[in-house]
Amino acid sequence: MSKSTKKLNKIYLDYASATPIDASVLKVMDKALKQNFANCSAIHDDAVENKKLLDNTRKDIARFFDMHSDEIVFTSGSTESNNLVIQNFKNIVTTNIEHASILEPSSLRSIFFVGVEANGIIDPKKIKKALTLDTELVSVMYANNEIGTIQPIKEIAKEIRHFNKTNNTKILFHTDATQAVNYLDMNVEKLGIDLMSFNAGKIYGPKGIGALYIRRRTPIKKIIFGGDQENGMRAGTENLPAILAFAEALKITEKIKEKENKRLTKLRDYFIQQLLHTNKLEFVGTLLNGDEKERLPNNINVTIPKIPSDLLVIELSARGIMVSSKSACKSGDEKASHVIQAIREAEYGGKLINKEVDGSIRFSMGRETTKQDIDFTLKSLAQILSKLKKWYT
Ligand code: PLP
Repeated sequence: MSKSTKKLNKIYLDYASATPIDASVLKVMDKALKQNFANCSAIHDDAVENKKLLDNTRKDIARFFDMHSDEIVFTSGSTESNNLVIQNFKNIVTTNIEHASILEPSSLRSIFFVGVEANGIIDPKKIKKALTLDTELVSVMYANNEIGTIQPIKEIAKEIRHFNKTNNTKILFHTDATQAVNYLDMNVEKLGIDLMSFNAGKIYGPKGIGALYIRRRTPIKKIIFGGDQENGMRAGTENLPAILAFAEALKITEKIKEKENKRLTKLRDYFIQQLLHTNKLEFVGTLLNGDEKERLPNNINVTIPKIPSDLLVIELSARGIMVSSKSACKSGDEKASHVIQAIREAEYGGKLINKEVDGSIRFSMGRETTKQDIDFTLKSLAQILSKLKKWYT
């Protein structure tokens, strides 16, 4: 990782939103932008060479996840991959904590929302109960982008398989793995899934490139027309430089996954311990959103009752610390968090407590986060809260 991506006197804790590009990924992309610009669909020498490179890169990416290379369709990112899946089906079972790129296209379909548990995790038995003979697709995200909770994908896949066997149905299983690639096991065979969305922008690769895994013989039709690229599944000139960079980013991610997981889990648990279990006056009343352990190693999401979360983000930003917030207040508000609402509803039986003030703040760490960064963040947060609590509580 290039140290130049770390800005002086700034602490970036918003890796769940976007990651900086890795230096060696940038190098691969820069070289390809200059040398591999020929259109893969043309028939001259440069194009044929690029098409070969594209085919080989697809094989490389497939190998990371135990896929066949013809099961990968490159897209512009996870939003497009998710749309490509959802727009192909009418009867869908999904959850109330999915990303908007699942929820919005779903609104035009017959859909059943399985409610999340108070700890931010979906119960596979509730998915099983929601299945009917008409269900065509189940879509459950691998890890939640706001609260980082890891969903029991293997167990859900097992329930779907069992239902299919018993009822002679062919329900497919899709997972949005966008937030999972950095940290979790991505072997599609072991997971038991038919469709999977992922992107490069969350794994220290470039933005604007993603993929959809489509298991062989899965009936999916394209939604973007105008060419036969990607095996006829997605029209548009192939973005070879970004695809090469995507593969390089995946290679690095796979190589350092285990070590980074250990390092970040330690930092995460330290952060949570300091916030929740030390009885430090400023942090009293802080709630952790989502299960304490079954969450991504880089995610800490908390609610600090009565303190507007946007204000906390601005105060932290003024001290050079970049984080994200979601408010759960006013329904209909674009920035309201449906995820926080869902876990509160599970906890309090449909009633939202602290309706006006129950926001959340997400600290998401990454490859450049150090213990010093976390200590400085905790110190700054304590200072901010000691000031704000006088006004708001
Ligand atoms: N799904 C999840 C879980 C995400 O976190 C995101 C981005 O934040 C997306 C989908 C959309 O990804 P993209 O920006 O590649 O379209």
